[in-house]
Amino acid sequence: MTDAAATRENEPRIDAEEILDGILDWVEVETPTYHGAEVNKLAEKVRALWADVGCSAQRIPGRDGFGDHVLVRSPDWKEGEPSLLVLSHMDTVHPMGTKEGPNPIRREGDSVFGPGIYDMKAGAYLPYYAWRHLKRLGRAHGMPVTWLYVSEEEVGSPTSREVIEREAKKAKYVLVTEPARDGGKIVTARKGVGRFELTVTGRPAHAGAQHQDGRSAVKELAHHILEIEGYTDYDRGVTTNVGLVQAGTGVNVVPRDATAEIDLRVITAADGEELTAKILNRVARDPDVTVVATGGMNRPPYERSAEIESLFDQAKTLAAKGGLDLVSTPLTGGGSDGNFTAALGVPTLDGLGADGKGAHTLHEQIYVSSLEPRARMWVELLAGLK
Ligand SMILES: [Zn+2]
Repeated sequence: MTDAAATRENEPRIDAEEILDGILDWVEVETPTYHGAEVNKLAEKVRALWADVGCSAQRIPGRDGFGDHVLVRSPDWKEGEPSLLVLSHMDTVHPMGTKEGPNPIRREGDSVFGPGIYDMKAGAYLPYYAWRHLKRLGRAHGMPVTWLYVSEEEVGSPTSREVIEREAKKAKYVLVTEPARDGGKIVTARKGVGRFELTVTGRPAHAGAQHQDGRSAVKELAHHILEIEGYTDYDRGVTTNVGLVQAGTGVNVVPRDATAEIDLRVITAADGEELTAKILNRVARDPDVTVVATGGMNRPPYERSAEIESLFDQAKTLAAKGGLDLVSTPLTGGGSDGNFTAALGVPTLDGLGADGKGAHTLHEQIYVSSLEPRARMWVELLAGLK
């Protein structure tokens, strides 16, 4: 045995079971987005853990019934100096009781199940573990770090967006701990997401006695639905989905009201502007009917820039030191808070959480075998990014 190997023998090791214990402690606290008080229980746990390892950690009060966000800074963080922003969310899409009911916390082979374990309690925990590990190895970290844990990402970050953007502007790079995918691939581009609502108002009438006096909101809406769905262009990466429709009061009544909700996905900001204008520009076919369109881009596209490419190359080299071959996934349609930071021009990598599957489902799970390599990657990222 060489001296170097002997030294390594005695080093504290990254231990997948230890990581898993930490993750499960966070999964045990169920955090549905709309239960601010429950999210706050996790917020306090996260704040206390960071305070215990000598970082400044504070809760930023939530608004509109949402839970608090948690802002953590490494002791060497200084305004105006290059730093990393590590971005996570604490909330999940799962209602209270999921951990005892439809997706109990359990282990089956390499998989550990539980509500929000993959999206994203495991990812949110990994950088904390890596930081603690770096310290127990006596290794120095690289750039100062800010960690931000938000409380309401799953509903589009309505109250945290301003905090995310403020912190992103102070950072050189942003690392987002959303789940890895397809065998541990990370994310370097995401589509932008738009949300719209159409409100159509016609004139009601008895469908038998006075059909000719009625102006059907449903008939009008039908034309708009087909027109908007027709904007889908897979080659260009543009999709429109009229996902929710409500209308009418009775089968024998010419309907006065109809509404539709639309989801838009685009690859580029230019497409976002173009499609937003098209969707909002509604002209009623029937002059006696009004059509009002509202909405806009909710998350701007996260486009793969040259700066993101070079950050990815740097991260790939560092991850390789930790024994992980970092691979980027093709463009994904799902949005995240990484969309906000990338759109500000701050190089952003996403999907740096644990590998697993079933985000937002009742078979949500992580792979235990992914924990140690991912933790090792985080150790190298925190130590080495420049
Ligand atoms: Zn997520």
